[in-house]
Amino acid sequence: MSKKSVGFGKVLRKYFNKPIFVKFLLKAGLSLELSRRKMVAFVRNDFTTWMDYFALDGVCRAVNGNKTAWVNMFFPVEIVFAFGLNCVSAEGLSGMFASMFLEDLAIQKAESFGISRNLCTFHRTGIGISMLEILPKPVFVGTTNVLCDGNIPTFTTYSSVNSVPLYVIDVPREDNQENQSYLTEQLEALIYKLENQLKKKFNYSALQEILRKEKQSLDIIREAYLELCENPISMELYQHVNVLYAFHLRPNQLLKAAKTLSKQRKSFEDDKKTRLLWLHLVPYYDNELYNIFGKNSKFMIVTSEFEWDWLYWNPDPQKPLESLSQKLLKNPEIGDLSKRTNFVTKLARDFKVQGVIHFNHWGCKQSSGSVILLKEKFEQLGIPFLSLDGDCVDHTNQSAAQYKTRIEAFLEMIK
Ligand code: SF4
Repeated sequence: MSKKSVGFGKVLRKYFNKPIFVKFLLKAGLSLELSRRKMVAFVRNDFTTWMDYFALDGVCRAVNGNKTAWVNMFFPVEIVFAFGLNCVSAEGLSGMFASMFLEDLAIQKAESFGISRNLCTFHRTGIGISMLEILPKPVFVGTTNVLCDGNIPTFTTYSSVNSVPLYVIDVPREDNQENQSYLTEQLEALIYKLENQLKKKFNYSALQEILRKEKQSLDIIREAYLELCENPISMELYQHVNVLYAFHLRPNQLLKAAKTLSKQRKSFEDDKKTRLLWLHLVPYYDNELYNIFGKNSKFMIVTSEFEWDWLYWNPDPQKPLESLSQKLLKNPEIGDLSKRTNFVTKLARDFKVQGVIHFNHWGCKQSSGSVILLKEKFEQLGIPFLSLDGDCVDHTNQSAAQYKTRIEAFLEMIK
């Protein structure tokens, strides 16, 4: 997500007509970057550097040919890890291409096969990546039906392009006993299907161990919540993306980061900064927003909503499948919009923000569909709200040029 990624993308672009060489360069480049991040994490040993490392780890393993499942952000990845597989977010792969300014190559590929321009660019880019055959094939693809109406058709396409199985988890909207049983039965069925596909017996103890570590990590972070609200961790805008990916896709690794949490607090200058809450996603490519909210800015993005959507869930390693069902049912982003509204207004109050920015990713019906209602709610609370249109993946999207003007006008109003 930096200028370095863009530079690397330029090199890859030159050789795009030689896929084998591009594969080699991509593996080498990402492995080098992963080693760099690991070294930085060991030296600094703080929350953000570990989360930066974890966010890239799954992508790097996928690119390097480790047995990997492509999943969406809410898929029960703990089950996949317990089978000894790697997981990568399909949206994250699109983000990786965007960070290198290479998304246009994948988008063109997808569109040349008739994929509609109305589809969100996370999906179009992901489909294009599948078709470019630069990454090793996934072992399977898996998604939930929540939050995103494009996931099921897109993951169906990933499945048919790669000729691998698709597993879909149907998540009910209400959190009640009947729905928990329904969801738990689906997780049992998923395990049964994976056992048959992989010809491998599922290791329940491995799943319990993952949940035990996840619980330990989340307990530490939950305990620090109020302190973090007072003294948020200073991060670059792109690091908020790394944090949300690490939370959703690397639950088995979080503990190292959680244990360092007490070491990382804001600097004295952060006290004087205007605090903002970020809603929905952040553009993955180097852009004006990274400068506006850089470390030296007078404005600080204190948190984003997908960093805390686990907050109401308490993992129970003794009942692993019931607990994973609860993880989905208790997620405030899933279900009625009122749950999300209550959750994000709580974040705004707890983190004492002076403004909220909602990024409307082009083609995303769930985020654009709810933004007016959220805006009304925040305005009732007297918290200024900016609805910012743009594209998280396509860096050539016209809106990118207007970020500066719109944000500056908003920041001028709240400072
Ligand atoms: S941005 Fe919206 S449409 Fe695109 S993948 Fe995310 S939820 Fe789905």
